[in-house]
Amino acid sequence: MDVLQRITELRKLLHKYSVEYYRNDAPSVPDYEYDMLMEELRKLEDEHPEYDDPNSPTKRVGAGPVDGFSKVVHAHPMLSMDNSYNFNDLKDFARRVESEAGPQEYEVELKIDGLGICLTYENGRFVSGVTRGDGITGEDVSSNVRTIRSIPMEIPFAGRIEIRGEVYMPKSSLERINAQQREKGLPEFANCRNAAAGSIRQLDPRIAASRGLSAFWYHVPDASMYVKTQKEALDMLDEWGLITNPVRTVLPDMDHVWEYIEKIAAMRPDLPYDIDGMVIKVNDLNTQARLGNTARAPRWEIAYKFPPEEVVTTVEDILITVGRTGRVTPTAKLTPVRVAGSLISYSTLHNEDMIREKDVRIGDSVVIRKAGDVIPEVIRVIKERRKGTEKEFRYPEYCPVCHERIIRLPGESDYYCTNTDCPSRIVESIIHFASRDAMDIEGLGEKTVQMFHDAGILERLEDIYHLDEHTDELMKLDKMGEKSVANLIQAVYNSKKQPFHRLLNGLGIRHVGEKAAKVISSYYPSLDDLMNASKEDLTVIPDVGEATAESITAFFADEKNISMIESLKACGVNPKEVKEEKQTEGSPFAGLTVVLTGSLANYSRKEAGDLLEKHGAKVTGSVSKSTDLVIYGEAAGSKLTKAQTLGIRTMTEDEFEDILKDL
Ligand code: NAD
Repeated sequence: MDVLQRITELRKLLHKYSVEYYRNDAPSVPDYEYDMLMEELRKLEDEHPEYDDPNSPTKRVGAGPVDGFSKVVHAHPMLSMDNSYNFNDLKDFARRVESEAGPQEYEVELKIDGLGICLTYENGRFVSGVTRGDGITGEDVSSNVRTIRSIPMEIPFAGRIEIRGEVYMPKSSLERINAQQREKGLPEFANCRNAAAGSIRQLDPRIAASRGLSAFWYHVPDASMYVKTQKEALDMLDEWGLITNPVRTVLPDMDHVWEYIEKIAAMRPDLPYDIDGMVIKVNDLNTQARLGNTARAPRWEIAYKFPPEEVVTTVEDILITVGRTGRVTPTAKLTPVRVAGSLISYSTLHNEDMIREKDVRIGDSVVIRKAGDVIPEVIRVIKERRKGTEKEFRYPEYCPVCHERIIRLPGESDYYCTNTDCPSRIVESIIHFASRDAMDIEGLGEKTVQMFHDAGILERLEDIYHLDEHTDELMKLDKMGEKSVANLIQAVYNSKKQPFHRLLNGLGIRHVGEKAAKVISSYYPSLDDLMNASKEDLTVIPDVGEATAESITAFFADEKNISMIESLKACGVNPKEVKEEKQTEGSPFAGLTVVLTGSLANYSRKEAGDLLEKHGAKVTGSVSKSTDLVIYGEAAGSKLTKAQTLGIRTMTEDEFEDILKDL
């Protein structure tokens, strides 16, 4: 394809994506895909000025206003923003700025993923709220903006003033609204941004009012008439009751900016709203004015975009795996791609229904999403990229490992291999038994278990405790030196002393995971105790329902399991649960219901939760009237606000640490 053809193709494609995104609030590709195509076009246009076109997407902002609202020409154009993706891009930005204007302070803010809105107040009264539109002309959405309760209708300011910010949808509102959409059989919103944009452009303000929108304000075009810096401008807005985002700071250089960005990136999943990056602004307003704008974007600010959580890749194949419960899971083998900073080659497709519903075919271009610690997922297929060579996947009738028939039970969405001797099930059970949350046998990971199984040394779970009879054979295996074999044998020996709840989790009884195992073992502290419990006895335990009780009794009614348990006992694996002493005496946390929120600097949520429980507190996830205390870290959001509204006691991480020190 020659250059002009590619430029034309890119312009057409980007125009189509812009309309889908800005006008219809329904993008068909992830932002990153769009950004990369835009970069490609920008580069080609730079290299080939002969193909310049003033209407090219590289020179335009947004996609123009939609019909149905009156149009408003902005007093100051609402521009776009230049993007950066790494530290070097940011250093280049600082170099450009400082070569023209000398050393600078930078004000750093969160880049809220919503919809830009321009408010106008006249003599202290709200007059209008207008979208960005194409940057020159926007849509008057005042009637919807009025429904957002956090936006004041009056401010203490005489004269006319414009204020810009982002209307956004909190993550919790998106969940609620998508649940409603599902109930009504309507399409769900892809993300908070699209939902916010779609809601603010409802022709019926009652619908906008029901959407739980909120807003942060971040720009006053005429601020230099009243204050000297961006920080002061935002402080001024706060004083007027226009909420600015509390996570913002002023820093002396890009090294500090980068450090701050890394800190914020870590707390991103815990924020109650979506951000897609950070915005770095020259703090001094006179310098901002001196640097000015290009046709598309200001020269005094730059967006840093986080590594994308959604990208496009290809399904190279669909593979089938069989887990320890016999569950058959289809997995997409992907052309490796970087998502949220990690390289992803596989993604679960869950089950047959999911493959059908999403219509995933081998060879398809798909959107992959990975957010935080969540397992990567195929979100949707980009059907318009199909070439006709894609292959539909046929679900197997037989287990791909042991070749027995697989079955789907009524009411279940999964297929199961019912052969309890299926090698894949055995290997997966052993891996689970030895895993960190179960018997924690170091050195007995996935690859080693598979290798020992293939060598005929680990054919059943109980063989773990006979590994010491095979040391010579073990030492002949790949990467198994004398030392690693000795360490492994020691780790196996040590595991016999693990508390009962770890063994119980390790047995892999359906519905009995780490948490349930802990609760159950506090009532039935050994194998013998639990084996004698009836279904009725078990359902008395809090959090143990019918299904769990049923599955425990069925497990102990199976002769094969009994024989495995007897072998384990014969090898000395028959632990008792020892009650962990709770250090509650004199603890100020004893008996309190505590909620943790925001990003804690020195603990993970789990660590802080474990410490609190150890000191007698009950840790819950949401703030309600029965909450006694909220401990918060940086960027705490709606939970902290709710606690303050309800008059619940709050505590910073530092205060929490101080108390712990004395316990
Ligand atoms: P942008 O959204 O990347 O950045 C500019 C906007 O950021 C501003 O207009 C403002 O509304 C917002 N913003 C949020 N917090 C801010 C803060 N603290 N300070 C200042 N501004 C803040 O730029 P854009 O021009 O609105 O949109 C372009 C982006 O939209 C692309 O980079 C792409 O990611 C996405 N897009 C995606 C598709 C698609 O098909 N997926 C199509 C078109 C555009």
